[in-house]
Amino acid sequence: MANHRVSARKVKRLWTYNVTEAATVTGATSATIRQWLKAGLQAVPGVRPSIVRGVDLIAFVKGRQAGRKRPCGPGRIYCLRCKEPREPAFGEVEYWPDTATKGALRGLCPVCGGWLCRRTTITGARAAAGDLSISFKCDGPSLG
Ligand SMILES: [Zn+2]
Repeated sequence: MANHRVSARKVKRLWTYNVTEAATVTGATSATIRQWLKAGLQAVPGVRPSIVRGVDLIAFVKGRQAGRKRPCGPGRIYCLRCKEPREPAFGEVEYWPDTATKGALRGLCPVCGGWLCRRTTITGARAAAGDLSISFKCDGPSLG
């Protein structure tokens, strides 16, 4: 399932969950829970079939989410194709407005040639772009 969101929000710290219950409460599938058990999710020792404590399930899901975050520093934009933050080719980005205050910085990925896109505000664009040169595009919503 694409874009399937897994969350620890509904997990109760003091409860225990079997694989099916853990899947229901996190929004993952039972197969995913079994993979997590192999990947280091702590099961209660000596109990078959496996059960997990809520507190361990929360820690595992949160740790997994934290490990996935790739913060982009100034001058870097996340490339969806490479799955890495990249410095745009030629040190240049374009600011494309969506509304009067919000828009996106766009640049070219120097590695795969795909588009890089970083959502920002017009006031945040300068800080997000760091040392890159920005050209502002005016063919968004017309300003009158
Ligand atoms: Zn790329």
